[in-house]
Amino acid sequence: MKVLVIGGGAREHALCRSLSQDPSVTELHCAPGNAGIAQVATVHPVDQLDGARVAELAATLGADLVVVGPEAPLVAGVGDAVRAAGIPVFGPSGAAAQLEGSKAFAKDVMAGAGVPTARSYVCTTAEEAAEALDAFGAPYVVKDDGLAAGKGVVVTSDRAEALAHAASCERVVIEEYLDGPEVSLFAITDGTTVLPLQPAQDFKRALDGDEGPNTGGMGAYSPLPWAPAGLVQEVLDTVLQPTVDELRRRGTEFSGLLYAGLALTSRGTRVIEFNARFGDPETQVVLARLRTPLAGVLFASATGTLDQLEPLRWDEGAAVTVVVASEGYPAAPRTGDPIEGLAEAEADGTAYVLHAGTKADQDGRVLSAGGRVLSVTATGTDLAEARDRAYAALDRISLKGGQHRTDIALKAATA
Ligand code: AMP
Repeated sequence: MKVLVIGGGAREHALCRSLSQDPSVTELHCAPGNAGIAQVATVHPVDQLDGARVAELAATLGADLVVVGPEAPLVAGVGDAVRAAGIPVFGPSGAAAQLEGSKAFAKDVMAGAGVPTARSYVCTTAEEAAEALDAFGAPYVVKDDGLAAGKGVVVTSDRAEALAHAASCERVVIEEYLDGPEVSLFAITDGTTVLPLQPAQDFKRALDGDEGPNTGGMGAYSPLPWAPAGLVQEVLDTVLQPTVDELRRRGTEFSGLLYAGLALTSRGTRVIEFNARFGDPETQVVLARLRTPLAGVLFASATGTLDQLEPLRWDEGAAVTVVVASEGYPAAPRTGDPIEGLAEAEADGTAYVLHAGTKADQDGRVLSAGGRVLSVTATGTDLAEARDRAYAALDRISLKGGQHRTDIALKAATA
């Protein structure tokens, strides 16, 4: 199978790494990729948002499968352009990707499907926003309706801050605050059959102890030893399958990766958000534990044959990933700094470095090129071992001004 992956972050590096280890993959390509992906795939400097160019590249390569990683190309309809060229795509249509692209659309689908989520109002004026904030009370949850790379959500007890965020967005969703731990559960679907993966937890805030601003994600781990038994089946029955069925009923069939961001509240499991693609950084730890070769799973989603797939096989152990971000992330990331110690980090074979925002210069040095720069990943027999290995590897890497959290998976590993 010839596979083309679209995107250039650590999620796509994780996808490419797994695909490169699948014996059925004979050629692996990625556009645009990054310095790490270039070590396992042939990279192509093609704009990932340009559906016509992506379809042309896929056709030229004779790709049997195109895997679209990030949300922006999905929402922009890149999957539709490739499908129109007759090539199977892992990832939803632009219309179905509105499940992530519009929080208001997602709320409407959840209402139709009877999926438990936070009560909410969609507001377009300051007056409406103020009314909604007062209806729920503090802490306030204010979400930009559109795509904001995980940074459009403000959770605060400061009413003025909540109002200011609402005023900065064209359309906002204001909703009730959900207490309780968060879980990310991914499912692969072909529009009918839904195959849940293993749950993971990510760390959204920039600083230790869940302090600081929201980010795209600073680390993740899997499995969740503290999660209730039966969680995956419950979420499949009450969230994932009803949502996929509702979207099919509406004529916006959803295939690809359905990501449920959940809060396990005192009143039961609630959906915080849906995403229409693999989550970053949770993908790094979920794929680290998946034993079933990946290409066949993604191809079955793309071709509507998931019901014929053998049950997925999983590593019994644990995986941890820790993100190295550049100085100033998330507000104003500094880029262009050399990264040292990448080979040393992987030298003992217990951890590996997935690249996010990196690029190689003319001399082959690897430079930072984005807010999140690396995702240092390790597996182990349990979370404590995976965590120790990931942090030991991270300690061998240097990036000027680089920042990371020191408490990824700490509570779960020591509980
Ligand atoms: P989202 O982009 O919707 O995933 O929101 C980003 C983060 O904001 C989530 O991971 C939560 O930590 C937080 N958040 C979002 N919605 C709520 C809510 N209703 N109650 C509490 N926290 C929330």
